[in-house]
Amino acid sequence: MNPLTARPHVVIVGGGIAGLAAAYFLRDEPVRVTVLEGSSRLGGKLSVSEVAGVAVDEGAEALLVTRPEGTGLIADVGLAGERMEPGTTSSAVWTLGALHPLPRRQFMGVPSDLAELARSGVVSGAGAARASQDLELAPTPRDGDVPVADYVGSRFGVEVVNRLVDPLLGGVYAGRSSDLSFDATMPALAAASRRYPSLAEAAASLLPPPAPAGDQDRAPAGTRSGGSVFTTLAGGLGLLPAFLAKASGAEVRTAAMTRALSPRPGAPGAGPGWRLTIGSAAAQELIEADAVILAVPARPAGRLLAGVPGASAAVAAFGEIGYASMAIVTLAYPRPAFPGAGLAALGWSGYLVPTVDGRAVKAVTFSTVKWPHLAGSSASGPEPLEIVRCSVGRIGEEALLQRADDDLARLAAAELAAATGVSGAPAAYRVTRWGGALPQYTVGHLDRVARIRAAVATQPGLAVCGAAYDGVGIPACVATARAAASQVMGYLRGGRQ
Ligand SMILES: Cc1cc2nc3c(=O)[nH]c(=O)nc-3n(C[C@H](O)[C@H](O)[C@H](O)COP(=O)(O)OP(=O)(O)OC[C@H]3O[C@@H](n4cnc5c(N)ncnc54)[C@H](O)[C@@H]3O)c2cc1C
Repeated sequence: MNPLTARPHVVIVGGGIAGLAAAYFLRDEPVRVTVLEGSSRLGGKLSVSEVAGVAVDEGAEALLVTRPEGTGLIADVGLAGERMEPGTTSSAVWTLGALHPLPRRQFMGVPSDLAELARSGVVSGAGAARASQDLELAPTPRDGDVPVADYVGSRFGVEVVNRLVDPLLGGVYAGRSSDLSFDATMPALAAASRRYPSLAEAAASLLPPPAPAGDQDRAPAGTRSGGSVFTTLAGGLGLLPAFLAKASGAEVRTAAMTRALSPRPGAPGAGPGWRLTIGSAAAQELIEADAVILAVPARPAGRLLAGVPGASAAVAAFGEIGYASMAIVTLAYPRPAFPGAGLAALGWSGYLVPTVDGRAVKAVTFSTVKWPHLAGSSASGPEPLEIVRCSVGRIGEEALLQRADDDLARLAAAELAAATGVSGAPAAYRVTRWGGALPQYTVGHLDRVARIRAAVATQPGLAVCGAAYDGVGIPACVATARAAASQVMGYLRGGRQ
């Protein structure tokens, strides 16, 4: 307890979206809140900067609106008026020598309409024929968690895995379907697949009913009745952290790397609590807290808990969560560099690239097409620009990321030219490296998370939140933040046992 204010002190370690959201959820509680961010800026994987004079997100750029958590925060901090809708979210798959439409009726790449799959050209004729066997095959036995590739492959064959499911999972987790957990990365489909003999039928049960014949071509993938499933902010999603920090009313410190966490040494009347060590060994600072929320990735969370008696099960489970590193290469071209009427004429918001095709870039977003307001903001220059974000690096491809920035930009530009026919070098580029970007929800992830939560629950006034647990998307991170805030408040209100 802080003797000056008599209000319990909650310290949140990590100033990414999860930590800042947790601080925001504590804003009206009778507690003092401090956020300790190790790096020099807030936001973690949310960050925005200019490329060729246009503010373009360096990390997360699209927020799912089918869950309320992210859009709710945006509204709460007064940014609802800044929301921008996508021009199109209709993606392609670059494979078999061409850009093919990503089938609309799919769930994380798992097709529900096998005729549409065949028409898309994403898989070969033989691949489409194999996929249609899903409708006749006997149910696939499944005992416990399995890799996505195993289960989906047993139903549809290897082409659907390689050319659809793996690229979609690669886009979200930078991971591989042969390692990722079916139960953790597609929980709704994993549950539905236990109710339907056919996986296509299970996927269909999770999708809105098909549009009436004739309307189908007007409803691109990624849309729902009443609008798109994604939104962003004019100026970038990277604006959100600063607004959230201000609205939280918390004391927010950057360059405050937390190096150690330990139970507060007993002092008369002090009650249970925590001591955090921040700063360098030469200039270390001790901070006392009544409750602590760890809103950091698995590795730092494990390191911090290593000094906490009784937390060894959590430390072990954190150690089992690997992370993929990646880079975002953002390229800006004059519009006439693209054939025809510019990038929009291609009709896509971007494309995915299957690993089996051996390219460096795994996903491309045509930013000025997906977010038309960006094209508008570039129009102030001498000629309109097209902005493209290329995502490089899947798990295990760290060597690729060792390349120098100009080399990575050249590689991304060359692959873009092969896919789209763009000519000439980009007018400007930016390379953003994300070391330890995305947690890998490999087989057994749900069990690992349960072990972490059970071990953390035995620690008085300790909670965890962030991308390592229930989903890497912003809404899922925000949901864990809300739960962590309510856990520490439950503890502080309940007599601190
Ligand atoms: C390139 C990229 C694109 C993405 N695109 C999208 C998207 O379009 N939509 C979407 O919903 N999601 C997207 N995601 C995922 C999403 O952005 C992240 O999962 C989410 O932002 C993670 O938030 P977090 O707060 O859990 O963690 P982080 O953002 O990692 O924040 C953790 C913070 O803790 C700090 N920290 C670490 N250790 C310490 C310590 N010891 N002491 C103090 N501070 C510490 C770090 O510096 C960091 O700021 C993307 C992710 C990446 C990498």
